[in-house]
Amino acid sequence: MESRRQNFRLVRPKSSREITPGRVAISVVVPVYNEESNLGPLYERLSRVLAKIGTYEILFVDDGSTDNSASIMRELSAEDDRVGACFFSRNFGHEAATSCGLHHASGQTVAIIDADLQDPPQVLLEMYEQWKHGYDVVYGQRRSRKNEPLSVRLTSFLFYYAFRALSKVNMPVNTGDFRLMDEKVVKSFKQFPERNRYVRGLTFWSGYRQKAVIFDRDKRFSGRTKYNFFKRASLAFDAICGISGAPLRLATLAGFTTTLFSLFIAAHVIYAKLIHNIPFPGYALLTSGLFCIGGVQLFTLGLLGEYVGRIYREVQQRPLYVLKEHLGPKYSDDTLEKAGEQ
Ligand code: UDP
Ligand code: MG
Repeated sequence: MESRRQNFRLVRPKSSREITPGRVAISVVVPVYNEESNLGPLYERLSRVLAKIGTYEILFVDDGSTDNSASIMRELSAEDDRVGACFFSRNFGHEAATSCGLHHASGQTVAIIDADLQDPPQVLLEMYEQWKHGYDVVYGQRRSRKNEPLSVRLTSFLFYYAFRALSKVNMPVNTGDFRLMDEKVVKSFKQFPERNRYVRGLTFWSGYRQKAVIFDRDKRFSGRTKYNFFKRASLAFDAICGISGAPLRLATLAGFTTTLFSLFIAAHVIYAKLIHNIPFPGYALLTSGLFCIGGVQLFTLGLLGEYVGRIYREVQQRPLYVLKEHLGPKYSDDTLEKAGEQ
């Protein structure tokens, strides 16, 4: 199944792309939430790698950090004209931070990378090569998840399975946000008006020519993950409901099946009573039937509520994030030339 799904991507596009002179070759978006000890090492490693590509910019988005991350971002932006920083007024979440970076990126290609150095910056070189070969979305795919706990592996397997089955979006397994996109993909992304968004799902949803680059995901450089089980589950639920109405259809199907089942049992009881005069011991059957139907009804109502809640948030038209400050990058022709010479 997997190979059949991927087959159409195996043909490598022939075109060889180049950067238009005077343009930023690559913008790298980094969502940041309490990553003070990772920002310095990330900046060092990223800059070394990006200099090999050409003109670049690094866009940090501070998602309401409560540690020193914001002041480190300010310092980096003051020292290096190629570093830009956006500051949210509070924590709006990873997806909002990534979206903000994409909204402000000006490069001909745009990459997304986590701040904790789990996505090795040198993989960007291979991604960029693939972009030059004509691919529009080059995504990082983990070689394996061996190092992760069984519970995470199991839940992510279930999530990918459900997401692909319900959304009809062919999202490959073991991918994260780590990816490099052509500017036209980012341009289509900017047209998405919705508040509830799942960035990686949407970049796959947009179509375009896609290519995986296999990599080994490192351990967090320092600090702890911001995603506990509940946050992960909520992201998964948002992702599925945001891209597909199929869960509603499943609820209808569950209601339909239960109704059929109860009709069948009713017919059986009537038949036994009228034809064979067998008195049917009703209690257990009645109670379990009631519970079953009640359960399906509550589940369906809850699911409806989830969608209504989402519609409500969309109708409110609130902004995806509140930006309290925005610094750089400060490009002058001089900076561009200097960067191009490296
Ligand atoms: N992040 C964010 N806002 C949040 C949570 C996380 O911007 O509310 C950032 C975080 O700083 C990191 C990236 O999103 O750069 C991924 O988060 P994390 O490493 O905690 O997730 P994991 O890799 O464990 O899935
Ligand atoms: Mg991480």
